[in-house]
Amino acid sequence: MRILRLFLLLVVGGLTACSGGPDINVFPVSQDVELGRQAMAEILQDPAAFPVLDPDTHREAYAYVQGMVDEIVDLGGVPHADVFPYRVYLIDRPVNNAFAAPGGYLFVFTGLIRSLTGPDQLAGVLAHEIAHAAERHSTQQATKRFGLAALQRLLTGGDNSGILAQLANQLINLGFSRADEAEADARSVDYLCATPYATNGAAGFFEQVERRGQVTEFLSTHPNPQNRIQKINARAADLDCAAKREDPAAFQRFVGQL
Ligand SMILES: [Zn+2]
Repeated sequence: MRILRLFLLLVVGGLTACSGGPDINVFPVSQDVELGRQAMAEILQDPAAFPVLDPDTHREAYAYVQGMVDEIVDLGGVPHADVFPYRVYLIDRPVNNAFAAPGGYLFVFTGLIRSLTGPDQLAGVLAHEIAHAAERHSTQQATKRFGLAALQRLLTGGDNSGILAQLANQLINLGFSRADEAEADARSVDYLCATPYATNGAAGFFEQVERRGQVTEFLSTHPNPQNRIQKINARAADLDCAAKREDPAAFQRFVGQL
């Protein structure tokens, strides 16, 4: 479970101090996919903690949510779409959260989906998580944390088959920075602009969470919603985006299939 621990700490860990500076990443893009694939494999092997809904028995539900991801990736011009699979998995637990593994492996808890009031909020959450993967925040954080020299040695030292295990031992307390969160919010607006979904869908999700007054898992990893709502709405207002069409009936059918 070391890789899984690494992955969970990477994607849902607490905030770490953000040193700022340029976004440097010593990992090749292919390494993001490899990390994500390993994380996904470990998740699928632990159905007690992560009861992933079977795509074969929930075809319509997966067609809906994967279709939404595909629309966002295609219409949003999301980077690395030629390399990252951008595949979404549904985890059947009453947890109000979602997370992204490197390489575009996305995970959404059914508890989050059931808390949403419409498709635009789901699109906002998905676009935000897609952005963490597309901007390669996990491997950027690893680069910042361990330093360029050490990681380059690790990556170029011949046999690097053990690199994931070595990193797993060290990547403790590594999470997304506030800058990563702000960037994922901003990209969510950019990606959604050309889609049928509300450009400020992520703000809609945060508003809904605030209205309920819930202290949710999502807020613990995505703090300061009020400030983020304003920034998302301002960015969406600045863009001249395509006309939107909500299909609440299709969304409700999807929720009913979970
Ligand atoms: Zn985030």
